Amino acid sequence: MNKIQMKTPLVEMDGDEMTRILWQIIKDKLILPFIDLKTEYYDLGLLNRNATQDQVTVESAEATKRLGVAVKCATITPNAQRMQEYPELTQMWKSPNGTIRSIVGGTIFRTPIVINGIKPAVRNWEKPITVARHGYGDVYRSVDMYTTEPGTATLTFKGVSGEEKSVEVQTVKGPAVWQGAHNLEASIRGFAKSCFQYAIDTKQDLWFSTKDTIAKVYDGEFKKVFEEEFVNYKEKFDELGITYFYTLIDDAVARVIRSKGGYIWALKNYDGDVMSDMISTAFGSLAMMTSVLVSPEGIYEFEAAHGTVTKHYYKHLKGEKTSTNSVATIFAWSGALRKRGELDEIPELVNFGNKLEEAVFDTLNAGIMTKDLAGMCEEGFKATAVNSEEFIDAIAERLAAKLA
Ligand code: NAP
Ligand code: MG
Repeated sequence: MNKIQMKTPLVEMDGDEMTRILWQIIKDKLILPFIDLKTEYYDLGLLNRNATQDQVTVESAEATKRLGVAVKCATITPNAQRMQEYPELTQMWKSPNGTIRSIVGGTIFRTPIVINGIKPAVRNWEKPITVARHGYGDVYRSVDMYTTEPGTATLTFKGVSGEEKSVEVQTVKGPAVWQGAHNLEASIRGFAKSCFQYAIDTKQDLWFSTKDTIAKVYDGEFKKVFEEEFVNYKEKFDELGITYFYTLIDDAVARVIRSKGGYIWALKNYDGDVMSDMISTAFGSLAMMTSVLVSPEGIYEFEAAHGTVTKHYYKHLKGEKTSTNSVATIFAWSGALRKRGELDEIPELVNFGNKLEEAVFDTLNAGIMTKDLAGMCEEGFKATAVNSEEFIDAIAERLAAKLA
């Protein structure tokens, strides 16, 4: 069989622990037999980030801006415990995802992968709900401090013109904690644009919610920018019969639970972080959630929403068989290859992305799945739990048949 040829390389960001093991198996069994794979490879494994003073992360993000499409493996964000586990670390390196998001910008879209045997915890959900999480600022770029004595805190902005603007935050009588957060108008506008464009691309309604009744200026700005930007997309929305609607986050949460699904829910950075975990769990499993960072200029970074599955990795190191779910990581590859195919006008590559996903669904619908999913199947659905490698083998077999 002739392998599919690529034009532009994908940016490949390798990662850590169990997902790094799966990464190699996915490449060996699902990608390399069918595609003459071109990638620009960046090793974002923790030890290489340490060895390069985290320059590798910055370079991989810059490569993504240059080439347009990246696929990323899950990576360790070190914490105090990891500093002990890896004594060679010279710093508690920042989250690679945070670094990449701040360079690439844009919005993170997370969509659950829904299969027949597993019904969502919310019975009326019939279609996936995509969470669109703003990828910049707020608490993730905030500073905070602890004070011990009575006093007053003020928030002061010094303009380059020399003009100053101040508000009193609070006067306190005792120990207190403080936080200063910001966002950028340009980033909020990019967020709005990415969301409207993604709604058009996927032909789904767009919901947006904040707490603008409390944060009148801060969240009010998000609401205002979305309204301003919507003017540019309204005609296209009308044409496609899709809608944009804004509501308070409290109201949105209630509506989401009552809904049938099948729309995009845009959320500020923190809300999106938390709500995407809730939505993915309610749809079945964090291991079944895809994640794509989309910048307003149309740059894409695909990944799985879950972490490096540490516990499974330690079993693997002891020589034990694991049953780790590779679906979301496979969908990161299929999504990235399909997008590369679309941008480079290579229909075979687009077709490959689709067929790879079909092969995953066929495998799951045949009841062949990893332990995490097998344990969640509805009564009457016959599921067989297989190990990590057997699962990928079962997909490879179906994929080869589809592409033959
Ligand atoms: P995690 O790796 O997502 O795993 C949490 C638990 O969820 C696992 O122990 C496992 O449960 C289950 N799980 C998650 N993904 C699974 C999969 N593919 N197949 C089967 N089960 C799966 O989260 P974590 O343990 O909180 O974090 C581990 C490391 O990942 C941390 O160092 C963190 O910094 C990093 N992380 C990276 C990213 C990213 O790069 N995008 C995101 C989140 C976390 P059982 O053990 O019960 O089987
Ligand atoms: Mg989270």
